[in-house]
Amino acid sequence: MSRDVSELPFRRAVGSTARGFETERADPAGHHVRLDAAVKRYGRTTALAGVDLEVEPGRFLVLLGRSGSGKSTIARVLGGVERLDGGALHLGGQLVEDRMRHLPPERRDLAMVFQDYALWPHLSAHGNVAYALRRRRLSAAETRMRAHEALDRVGLARLADRYPHQLSGGEQQRVALARAVVARPRLLLFDEPLSNLDADLREHLRVEIATLARECGATSVYITHDQAEAFALADEIAVMDSGRLVQVAPPEQVYHRPASPFVARFTGLAGELAGLVLAVSQSQAHVRVGDWVVPGQALGVRAGDAARVLIRPAATRLLPPQPTGSEGTLPGTVVDVAYRGRGYDHVVATPVGSLSAVFDGQPHPRGALVHVQVRPEGALVYPEEESRASRSSSGGDASKLTAVTLDTDAVAYRP
Ligand code: ADP
Repeated sequence: MSRDVSELPFRRAVGSTARGFETERADPAGHHVRLDAAVKRYGRTTALAGVDLEVEPGRFLVLLGRSGSGKSTIARVLGGVERLDGGALHLGGQLVEDRMRHLPPERRDLAMVFQDYALWPHLSAHGNVAYALRRRRLSAAETRMRAHEALDRVGLARLADRYPHQLSGGEQQRVALARAVVARPRLLLFDEPLSNLDADLREHLRVEIATLARECGATSVYITHDQAEAFALADEIAVMDSGRLVQVAPPEQVYHRPASPFVARFTGLAGELAGLVLAVSQSQAHVRVGDWVVPGQALGVRAGDAARVLIRPAATRLLPPQPTGSEGTLPGTVVDVAYRGRGYDHVVATPVGSLSAVFDGQPHPRGALVHVQVRPEGALVYPEEESRASRSSSGGDASKLTAVTLDTDAVAYRP
């Protein structure tokens, strides 16, 4: 994510909640968000190459993509600190942005939470939260009470008088969260808010963000490059690649029916096998891979096609060595084993390629002979050319990510 462009003007938008009114809204419903054919260029770089996106009121949308894919640009356009070069943005049915029109951030009824917290250093935690209420016509006592309640909601009431430099990173982000929701904006924008935090804190705050955003009824747009975070938080995931949205769907659909090999790779694979499609029936393809046959979901392949089988980790299972192989099982040797708390992830070298994150409750030592079962629900069969094209457009990043796996329980296949 580029940091240079998200500096001061955006920070001024933090906590801004007014729609030009000074009174409190009775209904806390979220904005309906609609981007039409949004184009944004920076010199010769096209950051948004015609993005159509719709988010229903109160829904939680996660924008997922690697660095530089255009996620922050979308957030900045929604936040009103970046102008569009083409297309239009509607919030709550109102045209707020096109080449002719620009509604300033403070009149969009939104709040933003950043990776680096962006608190006012000269204000206490309480002062930061109260500042977001400045446009509401509230008495001093009421402002104090509302700010206190919001801080209490994130577990920080007792630290209300501390200044940002006297708070840990996690505490600062909680203040930022309280500040974002205190005035009940219609849209919450989150730009990688957990990136600077330790793993255990990330998980805690993730749950708090999910709960608070839904409680306050706002529509949420959340940016991350972390697939596990995206799957855990989202009502819908929008996957971005090079300034385009390549799939917008609920997490289950992105996982089970990725729109392209790029999406499949970016959202976690155990490995890839090259083969030849023997037959396709009822959307299931049977693919010859070396001396074995692997069944999978036929995604645009026909009998006789050269194909690539992209395998989800949750669809693999480790078996003891089998006397005779059956369809969907491959022999192999364990080359690595890693303890994961609930059990063990194995890397298995098979004669046709390596598979990682093959789970079993018991460890199998390095060098052990095993079989890997691949269930067809999580074996995604794409035409070889499509798969190759997506690999080159996605650069080195995505192929590295094949080793990154989702928590197998988060989106598990049910046999
Ligand atoms: P992401 O949030 O997915 O990391 P960004 O939206 O920040 O991506 O950036 C998308 C593309 O636009 C990148 O190629 C980035 O280098 C470029 N970009 C973003 N902001 C600017 C800017 N102010 N000036 C020039 N190029 C920019």
